[in-house]
Amino acid sequence: MSVRYVFDFDHAHERPPKELRDLLGGKGANLAEMTSVLQLPVPPGFTISTEACRRYMSDGWPEGLDDEIAHHLRRLEERMGRRLGDPDDPLLVSVRSGAKFSMPGMMDTVLDLGLNERSVEGLARQTSDRRFALDSYRRFVQMYGRIVLGVDGEEFDAIFEEEKKKAGAATDAEIPPDALERIVERFLRLVAERIGRPFPEDPWEQLIGAAEAVFRSWDSPRAKAYRQRERIPDDLGTAVNVQAMVFGNRDDRSGTGVGFTRNPATGERGAYGDFLVNAQGEDVVAGIRETLPLQAMGELFPDAYRELLEIFDRLERHYRDMMDVEFTIEQDRLWILQTRVGKRTGLAAVRLAVAMHEDPEIRLTRREAVGRVTPEHVDQLLHPRFERVDRPVLTKGLAASPGAAVGRVYFTADEAAEAAERGEKVILVREETSPEDVHGMAAAQGILTAKGGLVSHAAVVARGWGKPAVVGASEVEIGDDEFRVGDTVVRRGDVISIDGSTGLVVVGELPLAEGTVPDELEVVLGWADEVRAGRLGVRANADTAEDARRAREFGAEGIGLARTEHMFLGDRLPVVRRAILAEDPEEEASALAELRELQRDDFVGLLEAMDGLPVTIRLLDPPLHEFLPPLEELVVGEAQGRLTDDEARLLHAVRQWSEANPMLGIRGVRLGILRPGIYRMQARAIAEAVTERKRVGGDPRVEIMIPLAVNSAELELVGGWVREELEAVLGPDEADAIPIGTMIETPRAALVADEIATVAAFFSFGTNDLTQMTFGFSRDDVEGPLMDTYQKLGVLAENPFETVDRDAVGWLVRRACELGRRQRADLKLGVCGEHGGDPASVEFFFRAGVDYVSCSPFRVPVARLAAAHAVLGADEDTGV
Ligand code: PEP
Ligand code: MG
Repeated sequence: MSVRYVFDFDHAHERPPKELRDLLGGKGANLAEMTSVLQLPVPPGFTISTEACRRYMSDGWPEGLDDEIAHHLRRLEERMGRRLGDPDDPLLVSVRSGAKFSMPGMMDTVLDLGLNERSVEGLARQTSDRRFALDSYRRFVQMYGRIVLGVDGEEFDAIFEEEKKKAGAATDAEIPPDALERIVERFLRLVAERIGRPFPEDPWEQLIGAAEAVFRSWDSPRAKAYRQRERIPDDLGTAVNVQAMVFGNRDDRSGTGVGFTRNPATGERGAYGDFLVNAQGEDVVAGIRETLPLQAMGELFPDAYRELLEIFDRLERHYRDMMDVEFTIEQDRLWILQTRVGKRTGLAAVRLAVAMHEDPEIRLTRREAVGRVTPEHVDQLLHPRFERVDRPVLTKGLAASPGAAVGRVYFTADEAAEAAERGEKVILVREETSPEDVHGMAAAQGILTAKGGLVSHAAVVARGWGKPAVVGASEVEIGDDEFRVGDTVVRRGDVISIDGSTGLVVVGELPLAEGTVPDELEVVLGWADEVRAGRLGVRANADTAEDARRAREFGAEGIGLARTEHMFLGDRLPVVRRAILAEDPEEEASALAELRELQRDDFVGLLEAMDGLPVTIRLLDPPLHEFLPPLEELVVGEAQGRLTDDEARLLHAVRQWSEANPMLGIRGVRLGILRPGIYRMQARAIAEAVTERKRVGGDPRVEIMIPLAVNSAELELVGGWVREELEAVLGPDEADAIPIGTMIETPRAALVADEIATVAAFFSFGTNDLTQMTFGFSRDDVEGPLMDTYQKLGVLAENPFETVDRDAVGWLVRRACELGRRQRADLKLGVCGEHGGDPASVEFFFRAGVDYVSCSPFRVPVARLAAAHAVLGADEDTGV
């Protein structure tokens, strides 16, 4: 027998239809479930399967599909006792798309299909309501014309508004029949002009046209773009649902509404929703008329309301989730038109997960409850958001650090810090930030930069502090006392609002909604920890004791990356400069000795905050010139002949250390090899900190990490020096117990990971640099100007600095994991690039075999949940 493409809602499937979303689409699966399993009052109909759509996309309209649709239509007609488009008593149908995943951008809904010049009269006679029939007809021509035939919706609206005005009608419901007749006539003429042939009168042609339009809409640019973003495969196809119409706009004993089985904003028990008397589905959603709260149905339609609440209960118990339900009442009779799992806020999500675990009727398992909360939900709870964006958007940059902030604009770190001191709320606006700006960043509510990407200084620091940031807003042109976007000028002291979760920048103050953290969040995260225990760890990137403590409070299981260069800033800078400028070994040694004491205290703080947990300390990574003043400043001073001796030496050093491509220059282990004193000093400081922690009864678990290696010889050399220092302080046994590993940050390191694993006890993937070097995309330069355009044009599906690029960077990670483990079975594998906090990347890394991910402290709760989801997803695939 040929393939079967069409299924009635009450078809006896072998499996419960709600599991057949692949075949029937989400909407069709639930319609079938409600009809055949729950036997709810659903208007009858049938679903043209996704298989038919797939066939259509590859080979055109499938052979035999017409016959099958005709057969199911006849059955529907028999059941309803009416024929589609019958001039005397027409059956009318709705046609809706329904893919496996709900998808904006696809054809939505055509109602009242089957009306034409003759059947509209039949409908008028049958309902004894000519106005109703004409209104249905004009709605149909309008919807079909716009959605199926592609005529501009505004052209219909213009005609409609003109005639409404002419008729002196204040509301749509007051438009008299003769005006409606004129509107229909003009609509039909408009369509004929625009498409070059008459509006299809034949109901069969209308039906097939609508079904084909649904198929076609699967490949509309908007639908494609959505799928790309959401990673929905392009070859799933959509189903088409054809359903007998019921009329909520029939009279005042009719109505329509949308309800949730519980409150989707707060998770509270009890039905929640909107309702309209004498209206059709789209009137509720379109917001044209003031809706009533669902409870108002209790008085107006007591029987239907009681029945609806019973159905809500049954649906919730059956699906074991909060459901969203569309319904219609036609002359006091209740019909359910659609149901799906309800969308919810973060607050509702965690509350529902816990409540439904405890509910004896539902009893979600802990794993199921964890699966019901998404990383976005958690993110929503942890950061302030804007209640609404009710001002024009000035520009959009990269969403670098989540949360919303409002404040006055200042352009330098000093100004920002001073204004904050005066009690002002501040947004620091910079071209880009550098370590010299951190005091201004600390004082600000939020940070906006014109340049830089998701792993630029501003982004990394802001995320570390949980501070909202928008970076790489390339339309922002910064002047002395103002910045411009096009013609808009924002002056120093003006108020702006920025949203680090979306990248939006708005002039003026938007209303802030602080994140509220309900107790249920900790409960769900605790369950998430159970799910991922022993499978995927979560550590934090933290450089100070304070950050480490916070990370631990957020649930971090150690530090995956302590960037020691952050300890070289602030009041340490003069000592660091002394070490760099030293002209003889003694001078260098004395500066380094001073630094060593400071570093030792830093490490003691870190190890204390993370007592009993692993702390990975990375030896110095950035190029040395980052610790020197900018060349231009010194050159100007030199030209004016006002440099001190020290400054003249600085200038010399800056020139000596300046590089054309610093990110590919003397940094990481390369610098470590050229200036052995630095790594030796750091290793000794670590050993002394370990001794100190042990002396007071602590349990320090330090791991030493060497950045930017490209082969085993580098590691062997530097590792040898590190070991010497450790042994000198701790003795051979204790020194031996400290693992020395490396970061995998260059493509070469990934490709020769087996060789590197001969000397490295662990790998930590520095996916920021690995992405930079694999793409050859400067992490500080390309994102702002390039990413948006690349994504819009479809050159890249995603920003690879945000979500790891699976094809190349991800491939290197997977390959390095395999090679490394082949060499050393117990090789520990982690990720400490910014991707460690990105849920999609976390899933990828888990599948690649990493043991833990590490991210900024504020991101740890999201990563804990994302890690649990990664485990659940992998288990599902392997049938656990
Ligand atoms: C990385 O490159 O991914 C990394 C974590 O190191 P950094 O961002 O400090 O270069
Ligand atoms: Mg790096």
